[in-house]
Amino acid sequence: MNLEKFERYPLTFGKTAIEHLPRLSEALGGKVQIYAKREDCNSGMAMGGNKLRKLEYIVPDILASGADTLVSIGGVQSNHTRMVAATAAKLGMKCVVVQEKWVPHYDAVYDRVGNILMTRLMGAESRIVEDGFDIGIRQSWEDAIRSVKDSGGKPYAIPAGASVHQYGGVGYAAFAEEVAEQEQELGFTFDYIIVCVVTGSTQAGMIVGFAAQDRADRVIGIDASGTPEQTREQVREIVDRTAELVELGRAVRDDEIVILEDYAYPAYGVPSEETNEAIRLAARTEAMMTDPVYEGKSMQGLIDLTKKGYFPDGSKVLYVHLGGAPALNGYSYYYRNG
Ligand code: PLP
Repeated sequence: MNLEKFERYPLTFGKTAIEHLPRLSEALGGKVQIYAKREDCNSGMAMGGNKLRKLEYIVPDILASGADTLVSIGGVQSNHTRMVAATAAKLGMKCVVVQEKWVPHYDAVYDRVGNILMTRLMGAESRIVEDGFDIGIRQSWEDAIRSVKDSGGKPYAIPAGASVHQYGGVGYAAFAEEVAEQEQELGFTFDYIIVCVVTGSTQAGMIVGFAAQDRADRVIGIDASGTPEQTREQVREIVDRTAELVELGRAVRDDEIVILEDYAYPAYGVPSEETNEAIRLAARTEAMMTDPVYEGKSMQGLIDLTKKGYFPDGSKVLYVHLGGAPALNGYSYYYRNG
């Protein structure tokens, strides 16, 4: 891989912490040791998260474009639009974000707290529209870009999750090198890596990065989209584009792309009873906050796979925590009694 050729604009603190989760490991039988890589604590910008690692490689292109307004799209409680709003604030740019009704969820304060609250506080114009969940390019997004142009602005468009942007996968390809460096310091290597996947560039970047270390098939994606075929297709595309961009030097095989589909039910953005139990367990054993849309589902996957014996005894498993806890505020009804 050749990552040196990419310009990177720092939005994060640097390497993220890896911490052992002894009480969670014990609660799941003690035969597998679980660690977390804390991408959720990666920055001082509006509570951080995985999007910043992607955006670090996109900002140089934004600056070179001469744009004055960032335009992006997500759900009402989108972490991504929060991070785009944060980046705009940090760069001194304007920001328009389209927030679609991706989730059939009705909590009285859903469109006022958590991610959307912070998005508004940072000065972004948040436009709520009626469209439902879809990770692809949307009409409402194109309308927003046009409206910025019509009012004399110069938009820079960032797709949902920053995923289908040409540089969307580079940040998480670099992540794999960071993990390898940290493994050297720790004196051991991880046998499996668990990561939530929806729009695809987080896992796709990791697959490329770990393919350079010949262990991409140890990256286990836990689908939270509920539309796994579309997600898988998008991951494949981003893997191919990123592999070429970073000069991986070979094609990534289909068997190196592992996505498990069993935990996204009942739908994107709606937690199952098992998701909520997973959120409670991570909170009660390690004070680690996960959310009902993304990390709660990958935590549910981690717990189920561990209990089922998917990981051989003695394995070390790295759970990559991608952020997302602000959305918990929009789901208060589920957790009135803890
Ligand atoms: N976890 C959190 C907290 C997210 O905000 C997202 C964004 O969609 C994901 C996981 C999934 O990452 P990706 O969209 O790159 O697949």
